[in-house]
Amino acid sequence: MTAAAEVVARLIDAGQDSVDAGLVLATGGNLSARVPGTDTFAVTGTGCRLDRLTPSDFAVMTLDGAVLHGAEPSSEWRLHQRTYQTRPDAGAIVHVHPEYAVLVDAMGERIRQVTLDHVAYAPVVERVPFHPNGSTALADAAADAARRADCVVLAHHGCSTLGPTPAAALRGALNLESAARYTYRMLLRGDRMTEFPVELREHAVHR
Ligand code: 13P
Ligand code: ZN
Repeated sequence: MTAAAEVVARLIDAGQDSVDAGLVLATGGNLSARVPGTDTFAVTGTGCRLDRLTPSDFAVMTLDGAVLHGAEPSSEWRLHQRTYQTRPDAGAIVHVHPEYAVLVDAMGERIRQVTLDHVAYAPVVERVPFHPNGSTALADAAADAARRADCVVLAHHGCSTLGPTPAAALRGALNLESAARYTYRMLLRGDRMTEFPVELREHAVHR
């Protein structure tokens, strides 16, 4: 299997998992991964359902934004391209539309980490204000926020998470959404205090 085919296979798995977890509906969301050993990345084509991806649904693009081959790229290709530029360590990026993360953010509330997994896999959450989907403004804002966090909430839209692999980037989105679900339940009972104890954070390490 070529390096490109290998990362595409991992992205297909992540797409299925993101839909199974309810992080996105219908044709929302898009995924990408760098092709190891190259200056290119593979990104889902526009209008794809993430639970029906096949290798022909992907475009391979340069980090300068040129399409080398494959499908018409996602309308959010700039979000992926610019985030790879600000985060040289990012191997993959997941953009999905998680319900509670967007809702808690829209309520003007901070998403709080409660569990070990939240602190290990979504330790820092940044947010950017609303910008139209597919816009350069959204891509630039998200890429800048990604300098400070692996999890970025895109107001009234979704999130962008990154990691060394598609599975790791997806794990960030899953834990961001889990933390948001916990936060929402706490807010329902008027709790604005509960979160993972600051003094124990150093024990919540990546496994
Ligand atoms: P694409 O189908 O073009 O990837 O767009 C989906 C999306 O989530 C836009 O923000
Ligand atoms: Zn989107």
